[in-house]
Amino acid sequence: MPLTIAIDGPVGAGKSTISDEVARRLGILHLDTGAMYRAVGLATLKAGIDPRNEEAVCDLCEKGGAQVDVRYENGAQMTLLNGEDVSGQIRTQEAGSAASSVSRYVPVRKMLVKRQQEMAAHQPMLLDGRDICTVVLPHAKVKIFLTASAEARAQRRMEQLREKGDMTPFEEVLREVNARDLQDTTRALDPLRKADDAHLVDSSNLTFEETIQAILNLVEESYGK
Ligand code: C5P
Repeated sequence: MPLTIAIDGPVGAGKSTISDEVARRLGILHLDTGAMYRAVGLATLKAGIDPRNEEAVCDLCEKGGAQVDVRYENGAQMTLLNGEDVSGQIRTQEAGSAASSVSRYVPVRKMLVKRQQEMAAHQPMLLDGRDICTVVLPHAKVKIFLTASAEARAQRRMEQLREKGDMTPFEEVLREVNARDLQDTTRALDPLRKADDAHLVDSSNLTFEETIQAILNLVEESYGK
């Protein structure tokens, strides 16, 4: 089995950037699975479908209207929706909320989990998401639950939005973080939870570099130098 690292955690825990850097240092590819759910969410928005309408979303997927694929260009993930590169378009609050809604539906999860497992079976990879340790790669050698307090996550999220010129106030970002947590942890299907055998990394009081090192240490413990 190729080297596989599974990282789960709530929204805003820094999973994507941390995972990117850990994968870069290990010389392996990083699959941001949230991007795939975002692409399905975006597909519904583009098709004028309410992402909370389960029947309409599942119908869209069954008819092949939300085909998600991932390519790599110089090690960077490119997320494709029906052949179009939507890597930029999926990074809005709307696409994030739509992703959170569509990720509750069985056909959506089945379709994406299958693709993720196929990708990880063929090459060394780091996958990050909500159900990687519990569902996608339950036998991964390195399993990590990366989290931070809701306030710390909202603060980081707000700073990211500011960089893009989005001035959403802290309280609103915190509300969104709490709402996403609730939706992700209470959904019936594959809810976000720490796998019993996953290592907990709480980055609330860690710098970026300290978090990277904590994860690299866990990888080293499992695979040796
Ligand atoms: O990680 P990100 O915020 O981009 O993910 C968007 C949404 O996709 C999450 O809120 C979650 O509902 C869903 N998701 C999921 N399973 C994953 C990754 C993301 O349900 N493995």
